[in-house]
Amino acid sequence: MKSKTDTDSRPLLEIIQADSERMLNHTIEWSRVNTHSLNPDGIRRLSGMVSEAFAPLASRISSIELPDLIEIDSRGRQQHTPLAPCLAIQGPRRLHALRLLFMIHLDTVYPSDGGFDSVQRREGGILHGPGVADAKGGMAVIHQVLSAIEQSPLAARIEWQVFLNTDEELGSPGSMPLMPELARSADFGLLYEPALPDGSLIANRKGSGNFTLLIKGRAAHAGREFFAGRSAIHLAAQAVVQLAEMSSAANGTTINVGSIDGGGPVNVVADIAVVRFNARVRSLAAMHQVQSELQALTNQLNANDGFTAQLFGEFSSPPKLVDQKTAALLQLAQGCATTLGIPLELKDSGGVCDGNKLLAGGLPNIDTLGVRGRDIHSHNEIMWVDSLVERAQLSLLLVESLVRHKEERHA
Ligand SMILES: [Zn+2]
Repeated sequence: MKSKTDTDSRPLLEIIQADSERMLNHTIEWSRVNTHSLNPDGIRRLSGMVSEAFAPLASRISSIELPDLIEIDSRGRQQHTPLAPCLAIQGPRRLHALRLLFMIHLDTVYPSDGGFDSVQRREGGILHGPGVADAKGGMAVIHQVLSAIEQSPLAARIEWQVFLNTDEELGSPGSMPLMPELARSADFGLLYEPALPDGSLIANRKGSGNFTLLIKGRAAHAGREFFAGRSAIHLAAQAVVQLAEMSSAANGTTINVGSIDGGGPVNVVADIAVVRFNARVRSLAAMHQVQSELQALTNQLNANDGFTAQLFGEFSSPPKLVDQKTAALLQLAQGCATTLGIPLELKDSGGVCDGNKLLAGGLPNIDTLGVRGRDIHSHNEIMWVDSLVERAQLSLLLVESLVRHKEERHA
């Protein structure tokens, strides 16, 4: 696919430029609302504000309830935590139009009592605040792009929907089951995770899964009956060593044990240990290998007399390996960037996002169409204000090119 511009995109690009203040204001207002993934009240508040902004463009706005988040606590019990509903915004129905899914998340990584809640403009065209880049700036860009489209003849040729989930920063445990249907409902996915600081888009991504290994042994008095006990901690320590050995710099597989819980007083043989870890892989073959090694490890642990082991979790994000359609989409975006006179490189990342899940569901997508930002997931998170206009214009040209390509194919 090759991009091509004509003069009729000019007024649209100008609309974006002229309305850029609104985009900035949305970013600031929306970033001021704390939307930590486990702050459903804050997320509901932001949902209300975002719904209001999109209402003039939408034909239907609905809340999609998510199941509770289920986690294993440090004593091996299942804990249920409510998640806020997702927001689905449907544009006007248009038969035979290009179907586009715009997606990003409402949640952030910042707890409401974490002391990072103000949004400030800084010298050098910088906006500093929680979620300004990841991903409220991107949400403002989506709104701006759709506003511009709906004012133009392009509108009749696109059927769009916006899906905003609320648990992305947790790995989308509740919204993941919705992804295959979302993937089927569109021709292309445009996701607004922040671009890299230099404006690069992410092409290939690793796959990732979070796991919890629960080991139960047998408690006993450490003095009277030590050898009658079965220390879950001792067995967990062996398991951790084996997990560590599964990492491989050569093929990019990593197993990171993030925490170990278990035990209690030192005069009691520990009956429980909970090991939490993250696994990342570069390919499907590596993912299948890790899956079978984890199964083998669990079986081996269970074969120990007096112990039980259970493994929870899965690879919620398969590796995102750019396929032909996604490659063509990325190429098209690069062509649009050339038209705008901005550099646009492609880079690979070990990080994952919902773009992994949508591509696994068959939807070609670009997942870093959001603003240029830096230091995301830290109290230094910033975005460059001029990237709002830049990225909205890039998206607009990309949408226009996609429409033209579809129509040329059917001509
Ligand atoms: Zn994000």
